[in-house]
Amino acid sequence: MNYKKFVDTEIAQFEKNGFSRTFTPIYRYQDSFPFSKVSFETSLEKEELLPKPDTRIWCSNDYLNMSHNPEVIDEMVSVIKKVGTGSGGTRNISGTTPYHNILEEKLANYHERDRALVFTSAYVANQATISTLCKKIKNIHVFSDELNHASLIEGIQNSKSTYSIFRHNDLRHLEELLSSIEKDQPKIIIFESLYSMDGTETKVDEYVKLAKKYNALTYLDEVHAVGLYGVGGRGVAHKNGVSDQIDIINGTLAKGFGQIGGYIVGDDSIIEFIRCFTPGFIFTTSIMPSIAAAATKSIEIVEKSDELRKDIFLKANYLRLKLKKLDIPFINSNSHIVPLLVYETEKAKEYSNTLLKVYNCYVQPIFYPTVPKKSARLRVTITPKHSLEDIDNLVSALEDIWGKTKKNSPLHKHSAFAV
Ligand code: PLP
Repeated sequence: MNYKKFVDTEIAQFEKNGFSRTFTPIYRYQDSFPFSKVSFETSLEKEELLPKPDTRIWCSNDYLNMSHNPEVIDEMVSVIKKVGTGSGGTRNISGTTPYHNILEEKLANYHERDRALVFTSAYVANQATISTLCKKIKNIHVFSDELNHASLIEGIQNSKSTYSIFRHNDLRHLEELLSSIEKDQPKIIIFESLYSMDGTETKVDEYVKLAKKYNALTYLDEVHAVGLYGVGGRGVAHKNGVSDQIDIINGTLAKGFGQIGGYIVGDDSIIEFIRCFTPGFIFTTSIMPSIAAAATKSIEIVEKSDELRKDIFLKANYLRLKLKKLDIPFINSNSHIVPLLVYETEKAKEYSNTLLKVYNCYVQPIFYPTVPKKSARLRVTITPKHSLEDIDNLVSALEDIWGKTKKNSPLHKHSAFAV
């Protein structure tokens, strides 16, 4: 086999399909965010020579700006100075520190569950936990929302279990599928509480009811909800009053809490089961102790930050109102995420490019296969550091761009998604 030819052909096809992605390097400064610098320079020494931060970032998942929080930064730096940078091993071989244990205890308490387990990312937590659980429970049948994240899908596929895909957030379809499987066959429902590409919330309590009726396990990804929804930001399941009834809740330390790493929480026995049998938990170097400490500090702060949560929801609604007035299509919700619908991949790339080059606004385009075909979008996220003036500035740029293309193109509504 000519391996090089094979990979080159695959890449060429990928690019021809319009799937290739360009990464935009940014200096996301602590003291000036959302104003940042975009720089393709590979020498850090040239940073000083760049013009002052002039680009507003509109697509960061550091939802509460916790990666820039001075107390969190101090905590991380002081732990690095005490115990160094790397953890030095896997959790089993010298890579467990009190910082890891304290973080797991904090996460369990925060979610009001028995125990937590920290992974190197929420992606790994999903993939490793689901594949282990579904491999171990023989003959389990998986029920998966059609818009589930890649990490959930990989976990399901790696387990080689049989699975059914239900229409997005369609409980009736889910029940149809559940009832078509043998009553005694093991089952698990895998879903998310806030679908991040749409910004829509899931009725988690309704899923719990169905799971009970059909004796199915529940696995809930709360990656985009932790820190933001429910009392103290404990997530949508908590907000719906059912977080103690979900078998496994997955969360991230990287978005609402602004660090890196992922975790699962649940009852003692199921978490112990995952700890014992999951290669993706045990055979990899644990997160840096300083990250564990910073994450704990961040959760402590986020828990008490109702005003930050309120602030981003108010601002997101302010943006939605302005978009509505201008007839710019977006996916409507009450979340902190506002996806602007452009529909066509090439157009989304072009809009994003113009926003960056002409208006100094950075919003990454999102397109198939991350979202369904013909639903390409610019996914805007509002953080506490975005002011109303920043939003006005973005809207004025969008008005220009949409206004110009409206004149040239009749394509501006898509029945399935538009407001
Ligand atoms: N689950 C969902 C729904 C996500 O969108 C993502 C990533 O953005 C992940 C899991 C993975 O999270 P992490 O970035 O912590 O690996």
